[in-house]
Amino acid sequence: MMLRVLLLGVLAWVLGSCAPTGGGGTVSWNRDEWGHRPGPKGFTTVILDAGHGGKDSGAVSRHTGAREKDLALDTVRRVKAKLDGQVKVVLMRSDDTFVDLDERVRRASQRDGAILVSVHYNSGASAMRGPELYWWRVDSWGLATRLQRNLERVVPGESGNRGQVRRRLRLTRNPEVPCVLVECGYLSHPGEARLCQDATYRDRLAAAIASAILDQQRAGDPAGSLPRPITAPPSRPTDPPGS
Ligand SMILES: [Zn+2]
Repeated sequence: MMLRVLLLGVLAWVLGSCAPTGGGGTVSWNRDEWGHRPGPKGFTTVILDAGHGGKDSGAVSRHTGAREKDLALDTVRRVKAKLDGQVKVVLMRSDDTFVDLDERVRRASQRDGAILVSVHYNSGASAMRGPELYWWRVDSWGLATRLQRNLERVVPGESGNRGQVRRRLRLTRNPEVPCVLVECGYLSHPGEARLCQDATYRDRLAAAIASAILDQQRAGDPAGSLPRPITAPPSRPTDPPGS
């Protein structure tokens, strides 16, 4: 019985992965469960995801009182303003509402020809500071690299930029489209918390994010060898930390 179920599952997967687009089919070349492919060029839609929202404030700075959910939404709006007219932009949330992580994944995966950029602000030990960039899928490496390079121009390594990290998170592994998560800075660091309060600074972060997205859209992945594919199951809230 198990073997039969398994064989049927494999057959369905083969048929599904070979099905052409159009004709009412539900499978599209623009979606991929694993993302083991080069990063996209010429994508048509950018989904901007402001982290947290509603009942979930995210990090709250003890230095400035700023809430992560508000700063993330403000930053996402700034990125949208810079992209409007050049690529279609969809906001995962455009106001202070709560959207579950798995629901964000589901909405992103519905969009053909899309990429997902999730924007957050960080919290940790008081000495930690700097932007950090998370990615997982092979097809998200190029965008992550471009974002990282641009953010380094705003916050160089010597000022605490923490670089790009390959980490399996629900928003870096589970969407069926290329996806990255940007942590713009630590609200727990006194100096950086004050910087993040400054609209001009957030606008510089937004400009760095927007231009990386447009570079990826125009040219695809930057030069360099693609990372090795890693086959790992979708991230779940019950996974042990760091798995
Ligand atoms: Zn967050």
